[in-house]
Amino acid sequence: MKYISEFRRSELAQGLISRIRHSSKTPARFMEFCGGHTVTIFRYGIRQVLPETVEMVSGPGCPICVTANADLDKAIALAQIPGVIVATFGDMIKVPGSRSSLQKIKAEGAEVRTVYSTMDALKAAADNPDKPVVFLGIGFETTAPTVAASILQAEEQGIKNYYVLSLHKLCPPVIRALLDAGEVELQGLVCPGHVSTIIGSHPWEFIANDYGIPCVVSGFEPLDILQCVDMLVGQVEKGESKVEIAYRRGVRPEGNRQALKLMEQVFEPAPARWRGIGEVADSGLKLRDKYRRFDAEANFKLKPGPPVEPAGCICGDILRGVKTPADCKLFGKACTPESPVGPCMVSTEGSCSAYYSYGEGHGG
Ligand code: SF4
Repeated sequence: MKYISEFRRSELAQGLISRIRHSSKTPARFMEFCGGHTVTIFRYGIRQVLPETVEMVSGPGCPICVTANADLDKAIALAQIPGVIVATFGDMIKVPGSRSSLQKIKAEGAEVRTVYSTMDALKAAADNPDKPVVFLGIGFETTAPTVAASILQAEEQGIKNYYVLSLHKLCPPVIRALLDAGEVELQGLVCPGHVSTIIGSHPWEFIANDYGIPCVVSGFEPLDILQCVDMLVGQVEKGESKVEIAYRRGVRPEGNRQALKLMEQVFEPAPARWRGIGEVADSGLKLRDKYRRFDAEANFKLKPGPPVEPAGCICGDILRGVKTPADCKLFGKACTPESPVGPCMVSTEGSCSAYYSYGEGHGG
């Protein structure tokens, strides 16, 4: 299979759907951790073609959605410091914080720039040597290596006005926290594809070994998801729990050693706050002491004020998989992609956005 279209071939999809329907006898709830998977599942109507025995629930795998308001408020406070340029990926700018958003303060005159890569942020720093440029390091293990590379490059090039606000999150620790909380009973986990490209499939083994939950790493095309569900159903029916890869073209069991090395060189694990979940030990990344001069938090005095959650928004419950967007009274009424109340409606990988765009009878 070489081209994307081959991962969308309907006859192959039909074959997998028939297999799943035929083999699934035991009721099973599978969580797709990753927001990218949620979007594929909704866009291609995958929930609707699965048998009643298979329930899919969405997890916390949208990095923008899980960024706690306390951290978003820090980013806003940074951008409010006169002379500071804040560089961020697109969706983040629209997320409402406790009292404002990056978009609103930009309209009020703050220098907030949307960038497409860390290299854009580094270039902004090189082009504006008299202004501090802070890149918002938001994302999972997928983005952390490129942010690490930007810090090493800044060091090499002697760029002294480049900083990173490290709000990175690590996925395996938060899955352990969710499973320990026991709010959602799972019989299978669709492990994130992009994250596994970096960390490999080994870090998921504790889920199969310690919790007895089947795990399959999936890609992002509809056939990837169907193949993944088929493999999960296979494990459930055989009473097995192991880690398998349904995304061999992107993931190796050992991951990407070079990217991991970069990440480990610059960052070390630290506690991180997750929206709706709270603080989880070792689920974040902070800059190592050697790179402290690039650490925005260590170099700017920030007083963002106490965090406030958006009234009526249940993003936190949705991110833990205990509620769905349809349970939110604001969904599609006070909260839409044009006028989002919470982050799950802002991000294209957010559950509320996916429900709104592709869900059953809601929105467009
Ligand atoms: S619909 Fe809007 S308000 Fe409701 S949970 Fe989703 S983002 Fe929050």
